[in-house]
Amino acid sequence: MADTSNFQPFKRLALIGIGLIGSSIALRARRDGLADEIVICTRRAETLDKARELNLGDVYTDRVSEAVTDSDCVILCVPVGAFSSVGERMAGHLAPGAIVTDVGSVKRSVIDQLAPHIPDNVHLVPGHPIAGTEHSGPEAGFATLFDNRWQLLTPLESTDPEATERLAAFWRALGSQVDIMTPEHHDRVLAVTSHIPHLIAYNIVGTADDLAEITQSEVIKYSASGFRDFTRIAASDPVMWRDVFLHNKDATLEMLGRFSEDLAALQRAIRHGDGDLLFDHFTRTREIRRGIIEAGQETSEPNFGRYKTDS
Ligand code: NAP
Repeated sequence: MADTSNFQPFKRLALIGIGLIGSSIALRARRDGLADEIVICTRRAETLDKARELNLGDVYTDRVSEAVTDSDCVILCVPVGAFSSVGERMAGHLAPGAIVTDVGSVKRSVIDQLAPHIPDNVHLVPGHPIAGTEHSGPEAGFATLFDNRWQLLTPLESTDPEATERLAAFWRALGSQVDIMTPEHHDRVLAVTSHIPHLIAYNIVGTADDLAEITQSEVIKYSASGFRDFTRIAASDPVMWRDVFLHNKDATLEMLGRFSEDLAALQRAIRHGDGDLLFDHFTRTREIRRGIIEAGQETSEPNFGRYKTDS
């Protein structure tokens, strides 16, 4: 159950970027009255038309400066590589006392790109919802996307704690649980839990596609659940994920190094017939999945219960 009790609605909420994440915020905020007015801003006319057709907001514009004017909360929902140029277009138009936040999957780079454009009387509170699907665009959003998912906030040392708390209350009203951490910690944790798994999925699906002796039709026809699950992840938006790797380079490369060492140990165990090592390793990892299910972050249903929904 979302906790809306402590949240006083925003007067004017500006969503810059209206894809999967932006539209999910809009749908929930509209459903539960979390903002008096919602402004939708995106660069392409067809995306703006689609948002209008879906009735996601009250005001529609392709101008960032117009969207942020008089808004008490601005949420940037664009790919991580676009923050610097969006920040430049916001500068000089932000309302005093406004909260500027984002949903980008990388935090240090987002702060470095945005901070130079944020005046002292505006509160920068970066964030990242650990919620998503492999689908993109305004049609992909749904109001319950954030239910029981984590929202990580990475305020700066100079950020007013009251602004952080107001934003945390908004995310709780959207259905999330909120945690606060440093951007560096965020980027290392997400490198392991999200970025490397995506890279592995992109890699294995590409490898299967490249193998000449296995035709593509056989890859599809005989795809067992392991491969199928990887293809779902590998269908994720190419722009978003290109930007994630370009902007979380150090943490991704560090974790990839450790991953490669561990993979080499498994490779050696297979070569030397070391069944005990394989068994112990697989037993340990099975426990981790149990922990994730017990924490309510996954279902124990076969196929992750994904036949019922497209999320
Ligand atoms: P999406 O569905 O692809 O939508 C992207 C939005 O950003 C669209 O409105 C698009 O506008 C706009 N955009 C794209 N490139 C841009 C650019 N260069 N300059 C300005 N605007 C641009 O994306 P999403 O999945 O909602 O992801 C948005 C953010 O959320 C990303 O930073 C991502 O890292 C983060 N995130 C995603 C997920 C997920 O699972 N998808 C989960 C958590 C966080 P036009 O259509 O008008 O071009």
